[in-house]
Amino acid sequence: MYDINTHYKFIAARFLLEFNTAYLAKLFGVPLSKINRMESNTCNIPAVYSYALNNLISHEENYKGIYKSLENDDLENFCKKINKASKISRLSCSKCHSRKLHVMKMKENIYFIECMKCKKTMYSNKDSAMRYYSWQNKGVYLSHYLYSKKEI
Ligand SMILES: [Zn+2]
Repeated sequence: MYDINTHYKFIAARFLLEFNTAYLAKLFGVPLSKINRMESNTCNIPAVYSYALNNLISHEENYKGIYKSLENDDLENFCKKINKASKISRLSCSKCHSRKLHVMKMKENIYFIECMKCKKTMYSNKDSAMRYYSWQNKGVYLSHYLYSKKEI
């Protein structure tokens, strides 16, 4: 159990889980404004949200990597650089929705994906494929480069 008691830990955990704020609000059954207030550091983070996020993390295939990233990466710096409103999607098989995939890089921004469950193959140029590939090869880590570029 990792104590998610600051806004930057909250944001980091959400990005490692690859969830949008709207999705998280729906999942927790709270208004989106509540999530936004916690992430903009205008209210404290009640312990129940820390428990809920830990519960979500514990169901992830790569939960060990997520915890390692939360312990080691520069979360504060990540939060300064990331656009909190950026849309995030999670890579999954387009046929069976499995997250057990093998991703290979074909060339810059083109990834070849094989589902280990149903053997479907796909190509993708999305951030989610790039992130999966990076985490598959380097272990889970946080960097704003793994997500949509901040709009200037
Ligand atoms: Zn599949």
